[in-house]
Amino acid sequence: MKTAWYRQLHWQIVVALIAGVVYGMIASSQGWGQWTRDWISPFGTIFITLLKLIAVPLVITSLVSGVASLSDVRKLSRMGGKTIALYLGTTALAVTLGLLWVNAVQPGKSLPSETRAELEAAHQEDVQGRQSAASEVHQRGPLDFLTDMVPENFLGAASSNGAMLQVVCVSLILGVGLTMSPPTKRQPVLAVFDGLMEAVIQIVHLIMRLAPLGVFGLMANTIVTLAKDDPSRVMDLLKGLGAYCLVVVAGLLCQMLIVYPLLLRLWTPLGWKTFFKGLAPAQLLAFSTSSSGATLPVTMDRCRKHLGVSEEVTSFVLPLGATINMDGTALYQAVASVFIAQALGLDLTLAAQATIVLTAVLASIGTAAVPGAGIIMLVIILEAIQVPTEGIALILGVDRILDMMRTVTNVTGDAAVACVIASSEGALGPPGSDA
Ligand code: ASP
Repeated sequence: MKTAWYRQLHWQIVVALIAGVVYGMIASSQGWGQWTRDWISPFGTIFITLLKLIAVPLVITSLVSGVASLSDVRKLSRMGGKTIALYLGTTALAVTLGLLWVNAVQPGKSLPSETRAELEAAHQEDVQGRQSAASEVHQRGPLDFLTDMVPENFLGAASSNGAMLQVVCVSLILGVGLTMSPPTKRQPVLAVFDGLMEAVIQIVHLIMRLAPLGVFGLMANTIVTLAKDDPSRVMDLLKGLGAYCLVVVAGLLCQMLIVYPLLLRLWTPLGWKTFFKGLAPAQLLAFSTSSSGATLPVTMDRCRKHLGVSEEVTSFVLPLGATINMDGTALYQAVASVFIAQALGLDLTLAAQATIVLTAVLASIGTAAVPGAGIIMLVIILEAIQVPTEGIALILGVDRILDMMRTVTNVTGDAAVACVIASSEGALGPPGSDA
């Protein structure tokens, strides 16, 4: 029997999302900003915190049991090579798409100089915060991200959601250790991890029942924070930077509606409609939380239960993707850096644009899967192409809105690659089969 639409999770989230935006607009026009922050936002915060709480246990249990049940450890390195190649390839494609759009439309050239001066003045203080955060990242050596992957203490790594790569690394090592152990020793340990993983998945489902309430709280909070008791502020911002926002959105849509469906068509039997329908709750959550890290438990659940991706592929490819694969972020960084250069009247040579491709791909690997991380790495790209970093003042006002959209692309990209890898490994069951 067909489930009524209002019982379907993705529709419930869509309704909550729209209700949150409408409520946020009313609240800011009525001056209920503080009341909303005190009484509505905490529900959003609790929801997102619950998702983060479950992320590390989910990655550990599913990765350990996924790897330990692999018949052949060589399969792991083959899968790893393919995954990283696809992640880098799709990100480079995203950056190129962004560059094509921004060079064709040239939104920076049409930015009125008075709007430019206003934006620069309004965001002076915020700019300094981002610059100092970027300079910390900048002082790191080129291979520091590899050194960082190996933690000296597992409990330390597991205590921070920001250290997901370390968690992935330790879980892989433990999984490999288990496959090398004699079956009599391995089985009881595996049974514990399997049982724990099942419990964690059930908890994800429980948390998702709160999704409509959580999404309402998150959206209401985002709108009152952006509008600051004056809803026309959001409209003004969008008017001044409308062309820039449209270029970012056009690029993201091309990546999501052309590149990923093409990948799926070429390498999987999965139709794009089934893919988007199965993934929808994760995409909506990415939109309302602006964090691919917080969305990870749901992305993993949707890929496994609704798209038919096997457990071993889901547990390996998706946590890795949430940390290193950010197609939406890289595309946005490419558009933003050229937009800033255009607005400041600087011409970028072909070599500078090639530098953008390289640095945006690398920067998106180093971008944390949390709200607003992309703009910090943008500072590094601007430095690489010698565009004044103060230029980020121009785009800070609309960053939150674009962050929501680029996070949806980030999550969709991870899921598309997971489907391709699963298909190439013979590990993609029919959709909805819980393979
Ligand atoms: N919010 C993005 C994510 O979590 C990162 C960014 O672009 O700021 O995927």
